[in-house]
Amino acid sequence: TLTGTNLHLSFGSLHVLRGIDLHVEHGTTASLIGPSGSGKSTLLRVLNRLIEPDTGDIALDGKSVLTENPDRLRQRIGMVFQQFNLFPHKTVADNVSLALHKLRKMPKDQARAKALEHLDMVGLKHKADARPGNLSGGQQQRVAIARALAMEPEVMFFDEATSALDPELVKGVLALMADLATSGMTMVVVTHEMGFSRNVSDSVTFMDGGVVVETGPPEQIFTDPQTPRLRGFLSDIL
Ligand code: ATP
Ligand code: MG
Repeated sequence: TLTGTNLHLSFGSLHVLRGIDLHVEHGTTASLIGPSGSGKSTLLRVLNRLIEPDTGDIALDGKSVLTENPDRLRQRIGMVFQQFNLFPHKTVADNVSLALHKLRKMPKDQARAKALEHLDMVGLKHKADARPGNLSGGQQQRVAIARALAMEPEVMFFDEATSALDPELVKGVLALMADLATSGMTMVVVTHEMGFSRNVSDSVTFMDGGVVVETGPPEQIFTDPQTPRLRGFLSDIL
């Protein structure tokens, strides 16, 4: 269970997060939707402490993580970005095993075995010795997901994981994310894919202007929005 409580963050005079509360039950998927600039990416970065909040608390399973070493916390939360951030000169398998070896101190052969296991899960074991540049965007994103999963995180964050992909590659990555959600992973997914938000996530949080305007089950958010802001957002994009 991941809980953010009354999170505030400013960049200089720009007050970007204005008292965010977010609660994601263990084993559920929360999707985060909202207009550009509403603070979605910033919230994910604050939740895994890539940026420290000005005030507020973040807890995993009821225990505050703000006293924990931020590097340790980031091993507990896997993150997948729009840009895959793979190392271009390393093989696919090395991309996946690197953190296991360097951060988890796993012996190299063991790290490679674990990497292959996770590449197999995303259907890319046969690409283990290729370079990322020789893979399609969808395949690269699946490698990035395998890399995050190999660390056995307690929670997975996705920030517009399919936004940079060619349309025909989006489906495969969304299907993998849906499988992961069904398997019981705890996930926070920032997405413009309203189909995923509606059909896969257990809860939807709509942010605008650095606040949570509405949060609830997908049926409620998509069929019975309570605020003019959410109604306006949905009518603009659906
Ligand atoms: P999008 O849907 O376009 O990705 P978003 O909801 O993810 O938008 P954020 O990237 O969180 O929005 O940005 C929220 C606000 O914070 C924006 O006004 C943005 O310009 C600002 N911002 C984000 N990162 C920084 C930074 N490092 N320094 C200063 N301002 C920033
Ligand atoms: Mg963003």
